[in-house]
Amino acid sequence: MARVLIIGAGGVGAVVVHKCAQVPEVFSEIMLASRTLEKCERIKEEVKEIEKRDIQTAKVDADNVPELVSLIKSFKPDLVINVALPYQDLHIMDACLEAGVNYLDTANYEPQDVAHFEYSWQWAYQERFRKKGLMALLGCGFDPGVSNVYCAYAQKHFYDTIKTIDILDCNAGSHGKSFATNFNPEINIREVTQVVRHWENGKWVENPPIIEENSVHFTFDYPIAGPKESYLLYHEEEESLVKNIKGLQKIRFWMTFSENYLTHLRVLRNVGMTGIEPVKYEGHDIIPLRFLKSVLPEPASLGKGYSGKTVIGCIFDGLKDGKQKKIYIYNVCDHAECYKEIRAQAISYTTGVPAMIGAMLMIKGIWKGTGVFNMEQMDPDPMMELLTKYGLPWEVEDFRGSLPQ
Ligand code: NDP
Repeated sequence: MARVLIIGAGGVGAVVVHKCAQVPEVFSEIMLASRTLEKCERIKEEVKEIEKRDIQTAKVDADNVPELVSLIKSFKPDLVINVALPYQDLHIMDACLEAGVNYLDTANYEPQDVAHFEYSWQWAYQERFRKKGLMALLGCGFDPGVSNVYCAYAQKHFYDTIKTIDILDCNAGSHGKSFATNFNPEINIREVTQVVRHWENGKWVENPPIIEENSVHFTFDYPIAGPKESYLLYHEEEESLVKNIKGLQKIRFWMTFSENYLTHLRVLRNVGMTGIEPVKYEGHDIIPLRFLKSVLPEPASLGKGYSGKTVIGCIFDGLKDGKQKKIYIYNVCDHAECYKEIRAQAISYTTGVPAMIGAMLMIKGIWKGTGVFNMEQMDPDPMMELLTKYGLPWEVEDFRGSLPQ
């Protein structure tokens, strides 16, 4: 029986609340807190209707540490789940340290004024969490999150040495909008307009952003979804996996994008709408990307009518008993099924379910430790078992296809 405080009432936050509410024997008290109280109230009503559970709600600015500390001290949670934005990570970690509570998130910190994300800022909290006897679990969504757990599982059960990892993220769904992003538009557009990096033979190799003519892409034949154009993209789990999977020679991350999405993004970039530097508008400073976010659909609103599947997984190449072995571990998730269950789309669902499971494993003391951890540092077996139980079943098969060199 535990009390959990969930921060962020967006697409992912709603899924985490629903999934925690489905397990009352673990999550006996749930509070959802966010910047806009009405969004918390809307989710509260939905949870009452679908899960028949009452939750508490609160308004909080997660960038205001004293306000957060006082909320945490009054609700007294066993764990804080941060599914607000990456900008809030350090403030919420500070508040958890001050109030003496464990922490979990799904995306690594990035500063608002530079479109750059990396773990160093959160890894720097290692000693502070250790000294307080607290645990912080980073990146507990799908990718990062389950992708890291697949790597740990492959390492534990199938390989002596993993030489290469290719993480492939395919959204073959259709939401029927001209242009929308499946998670927070500001964070999504900052991520996909960056210079691409992957790690090979001990160093990071750079390539052009996905919207450039000379970006790196190939057609991959996904299970169930079929052939889809997949673009090399930098993703945060590469940074921790390079450290934690010993003997790794190469890691790449690929994501599918439609021509329609890329064309919209190119136009928006070319007219300056993806910029994060303030511009003067009628005497006010505005940030073009923030303004763009305000006119794009919210991720939580995309679920109704969304059809098709997501297919996200990892392909490994390495050695077992001196022989080469290639395997593929992946999940297939259906947008419409997610909507039917909890009115979510599959990107929010595939992120929120692992966050709930990670929270459950921490609360039960199955995943424990003091300090700051990435997912692959935990025993993968309990999460792999619970993923199937709570809606994200996975397959392991020999991989006979081909990938770019
Ligand atoms: P949304 O934009 O739908 O939701 C974000 C929520 O955070 C909003 O409700 C927003 O409030 C709230 N928020 C923002 N700033 C503050 C603040 N200062 N104080 C309190 N609340 C705040 O985004 P998503 O739900 O799609 O994404 C949530 C997180 O999940 C992001 O960090 C994203 O990067 C991560 N993610 C991780 C994935 C993974 O696989 N690991 C995949 C997808 C997402 P308001 O409504 O008022 O704006």
